[in-house]
Amino acid sequence: MIEDKNPQRTPLSDLGEFKLIEHLTEHFKVTQKSTIKSIGDDAAVLNFEKKQVVVSTDLLVEGVHFDLSYVPLKHLGYKAIMVNLSDIYAMNATATQVTVSIAVSNRFPIEALEELYAGIVTAAKIYNVDVVGGDTTSSTSGLVISVTAIGEVDKGNEVLRSGAKPNDLLVVTGDLGGAYMGLQVLEREKEVFKVNPNNQPDLSMYTYIVERQLKPEARKDIVELLKELKVKPTSMIDISDGLSSEVMHLCKQSKVGVDVYENKIPLDPQVISTCEEFNIDSTTIALNGGEDYELLMTISQEDFPKIKGNPNLTVIGYMTDEDRGMHLVTRAETKIPIIAKGWNALKDQA
Ligand code: ADP
Ligand code: MG
Repeated sequence: MIEDKNPQRTPLSDLGEFKLIEHLTEHFKVTQKSTIKSIGDDAAVLNFEKKQVVVSTDLLVEGVHFDLSYVPLKHLGYKAIMVNLSDIYAMNATATQVTVSIAVSNRFPIEALEELYAGIVTAAKIYNVDVVGGDTTSSTSGLVISVTAIGEVDKGNEVLRSGAKPNDLLVVTGDLGGAYMGLQVLEREKEVFKVNPNNQPDLSMYTYIVERQLKPEARKDIVELLKELKVKPTSMIDISDGLSSEVMHLCKQSKVGVDVYENKIPLDPQVISTCEEFNIDSTTIALNGGEDYELLMTISQEDFPKIKGNPNLTVIGYMTDEDRGMHLVTRAETKIPIIAKGWNALKDQA
């Protein structure tokens, strides 16, 4: 569906494993003070001095997490880094290094891996992280990418999922549901393309939501903003599976309840119009659609004046005693229990 602009196809076997690694990693530059030794030895050497180290890993599997018929490899490389950095930022930490491991079948030419790595290099540059290692191996089926992200945080500044208290405000960054609706548009265009391969899709009406799906941005800026505003959230999580499932994680781990107000949930106009077109309820999408990579946090009421009016931060509810349960307060002012229908990688495959 996405046009192949790079028709050259050099088989992977032309290079061999060591040359391939050398070739793919030659554009990585070391910028972090904490990186002592990067790619090229048996292991990387890092020095964080007095900082605490934060580590997170994600695995992306072709056919489960991405579909190469509409995901350009460059975007995939970029997104693989983003989903991991998002977890580091959700700890209120600064991302500093990543490792990237890939398993690839020989149906991929070297040019395809160059594209994938171009996305990785771009992400590393923009987000100021060093790629300090990884592993490369063959796969008998699809492409598998695993990224490990490493970050640092001053002792006591880390924010866990477990610190929310009753009466804390529930705050979300950006807007929700865009990535899911972008995926719906791409899936629809894929079906159209199957019927008529000459039909190049016109996605101009959906640029924002398609970009939210294909090229998400991790909220590094929010960690910096919170520092500037002198706000330390009482709990935080990134929204990878949808608002309802992340709210439930915060509530369960903090032993609190929540009231989320439907009319406060931030939605982009393009999400609203696309939901209307697809005849789906936009609140359902915000609650259950995944992959927005926004941050969801709780802050103490005392901090409200510091965040008030900030366009990046929206108060969508407040935490309650645990025995009050978890509810959505609808526009009609009825209370309905929040249940997780979030995207579940394992269930989807069953
Ligand atoms: P080993 O046999 O010890 O695993 P490798 O030959 O796999 O060593 O790796 C050599 C160096 O290249 C190491 O520094 C490793 O971290 C790095 N490396 C290997 N594959 C990748 C990759 N896909 N991306 C980034 N770095 C890689
Ligand atoms: Mg290796």
